[in-house]
Amino acid sequence: MKITFLGTSHGVPAKERFCSCVMLESGGSVYLIDAGAPAVELMLGHGKRVEDFRALFTTHTHMDHTVGMLHLIGLMNWHYKECSAEFFITEQAHVDATKQWIYTSGAGVVDESRLRFHIPEAGVVYEDENIKVEYIPTKHMETSYAILVTEGEKRVLFGGDFSYKLKKRDIPDVICEEIDAFVCELAHFDLPMLAPYLEECRAKKVIFVHAKPRHYADVEAAKGNYLFPLLTPADGDCIEI
Ligand SMILES: [Zn+2]
Ligand SMILES: [Zn+2]
Repeated sequence: MKITFLGTSHGVPAKERFCSCVMLESGGSVYLIDAGAPAVELMLGHGKRVEDFRALFTTHTHMDHTVGMLHLIGLMNWHYKECSAEFFITEQAHVDATKQWIYTSGAGVVDESRLRFHIPEAGVVYEDENIKVEYIPTKHMETSYAILVTEGEKRVLFGGDFSYKLKKRDIPDVICEEIDAFVCELAHFDLPMLAPYLEECRAKKVIFVHAKPRHYADVEAAKGNYLFPLLTPADGDCIEI
């Protein structure tokens, strides 16, 4: 699978970073993990077609992970009328508010035969011929998840946001298995607070996004301390897993 980091900033945008948004490509289809960035503009900017977009998986409802979803759903409702997609939104109230926002913005009543909303629970929530998607609860807020994406033998964990200072010990155990990558935030805790987990981590690479600027220096200093590389992608960077 190809992973493009469309937005790598923490809860606040920065000069050259949008908020959380990752684009996955597999088998010619396009998927999004979170949409805290202008997802439609960025998909098009990377040469992708909305027609190939299949599903959005959000980790939680905070706006730095969801605000781009409104425009995406609104445009798919009134403009891209041949397109359909699945939208995984973690709370029913947020689904209702999204539909209401789109309706009151003049983009019409959401056509739920094409734009299908799902409230994910722990476990596998989606599977097609390309990928399988599993939601793993975290304790960042009352309803929040990490997302494990499997493509054949390959597995990537997108952590979403974790608890403040990791006090609720909500890093998923799957990082102790040989997964292909762990995409980890670095805003609600410092790198030293993550260090005990990195000691146990067997991921082939750890990729930091949603990082506060002062934490990038910590990551630079820690490079070489582990068997796996620590990566800090910029917006627009992509990797092939
Ligand atoms: Zn966030
Ligand atoms: Zn959050």
